[in-house]
Amino acid sequence: MQAHIVQIEDYYNPENFADIKKFADTQETPFVVIDRRIIRQHYNDLTGFFPFAKIYYAVKANPGNEILELLRDQGSCFDIASTYELDKVLALDVSPERCSYGNTIKKRKDIRYFYEKGVRLYVSDSEPDLRNIALEAPGSKVYIRLLTEGSHTADWPLSRKFGCQTDMAVDLLVLAKELGLEPYGVSFHVGSQQRDISAWDAAIDKVKTIFDWLKNEQGIQLKMINMGGGFPANYLNRTNDLGTYADEIKYYLHEDFGDELPEIILEPGRSLCSNAGVLVSEVVLISRKSTSSLHRWVYTDVGKFSGLIETLGESIKYPIYTERTGEQEECVIAGPTCDSADIMYEDHKYELPLSLEIGDRLYWFSTGAYTTSYSAIEFNGFPPLKQYVIG
Ligand SMILES: *Cc1c(COP(=O)(O)O)cnc(C)c1O
Repeated sequence: MQAHIVQIEDYYNPENFADIKKFADTQETPFVVIDRRIIRQHYNDLTGFFPFAKIYYAVKANPGNEILELLRDQGSCFDIASTYELDKVLALDVSPERCSYGNTIKKRKDIRYFYEKGVRLYVSDSEPDLRNIALEAPGSKVYIRLLTEGSHTADWPLSRKFGCQTDMAVDLLVLAKELGLEPYGVSFHVGSQQRDISAWDAAIDKVKTIFDWLKNEQGIQLKMINMGGGFPANYLNRTNDLGTYADEIKYYLHEDFGDELPEIILEPGRSLCSNAGVLVSEVVLISRKSTSSLHRWVYTDVGKFSGLIETLGESIKYPIYTERTGEQEECVIAGPTCDSADIMYEDHKYELPLSLEIGDRLYWFSTGAYTTSYSAIEFNGFPPLKQYVIG
């Protein structure tokens, strides 16, 4: 028995998978099927573990209308990064009080647009941006994003580009008050698919330092901690379960803030949607580079440019399932386009059955987040990755 063989039960409840498969059998590849029942379950798990937290779904993870509607009905708020995302969410009758502008990189006219639509909660990590917020969204609540450690233990790090050092965060919060904004809190994102839970400990310690300093030196009482995303999905490299994350993070929070926690915001994306999706592709070609080669190349009708961009650097290792069985052999797995960057896995050799044939389907598990929203619209003429929603 190879340890590599992907089993359905390790990733899906068999009834859910049977329904996904039944639907998938009626469609032409490639596409993603999302089972909303799984998102609902993940949402309920998260709010069960963090009953005191407000959830702001990170829309970029999967902006499908059916998903936004489900989360709207579950009571979620929305972390929004652009005017386009804002229009999408507001069109579903979500009130602007349930939206935050969570991108630190924004045009001044876009801040005005958010303000005119009624959004009053903004992130910043720099003085020029903060000044634009003061001009275009006067009186709004602002929170400052911190730089965090932990990028080497996150499979898809979000550090460096976002956030500022603790000292600067303090200065910006003081400046926010001077500019007539409400210095509301501090945010961080420990990196997506963060496998080291202690990354939250270090970040919460920094937040505590900022809360105390502002209170003692400036009489400013911050009210909110936005702990971002980073909660795990199930890929090939396993993580602790969400309950373990929650227990440890709550411990860190109480350790620093005692019983009276400030308002806590979570911004899950990956952890809500990934495990609700299955990407179905078809094997286009199987070949060897020489007759004596010990591994095959398996080319599929989906690749880096049609939804699998998180395979860059082989960062995210999706479990790949096939109905074929029998002896396995190492493979390189690549996409269908005329770009040699369109190879998903080469260093990490996936094992697939020798019986695999051209025309067979491959099922990429845990592909409900960061796939369709990343798909190119016309590279080599291939259309964007389709998404169907059931449940
Ligand atoms: C992308 C993003 C998230 C979602 O992170 P996940 O790791 O997918 O949960 C949350 N907050 C912000 C600001 C983001 O940019």
